[in-house]
Amino acid sequence: MKYVISACLAGITCRYDGFSNSNDTVLRLARSGSAVLVCPELLGGLSVPRTPCEILHDRVYDNHGSDKTKNFERGALKALNIALSHGCARALLKARSPSCGYGCVYDGTFHHVLTPGCGFYAALLEKAGIKIFTEENIRAFLDTL
Ligand code: SF4
Repeated sequence: MKYVISACLAGITCRYDGFSNSNDTVLRLARSGSAVLVCPELLGGLSVPRTPCEILHDRVYDNHGSDKTKNFERGALKALNIALSHGCARALLKARSPSCGYGCVYDGTFHHVLTPGCGFYAALLEKAGIKIFTEENIRAFLDTL
């Protein structure tokens, strides 16, 4: 069964600052043939590098106050459709991201403060019934394979 992975965890340099969040275990998974790599923010038309964004009152703003909500909505929907078209039932996502974060995200103050909630992509995946894990509970994800 295929599963979707945040592309930055698999070494793709799609983070806002042009780096990745490469994780050795995820790199092995990415080579397994079962992983579908997506970056919702790139799918939403944002570039690398880009200004950092956080969620505030159900919208997304960058650190200059520019509203990026439409990019995040568009990217999340495209990435959801990719996951569904591959029949993915599980997702391994980057924790705390305004797209991929699950359970908690940064609070919109750009002061590294976490608040309960999900990124836009994680929220759509959850609504679609896809089971979500992050790199912080990757052992639980591995147990499902
Ligand atoms: S949107 Fe997701 S996959 Fe893309 S850089 Fe952010 S956390 Fe990684």
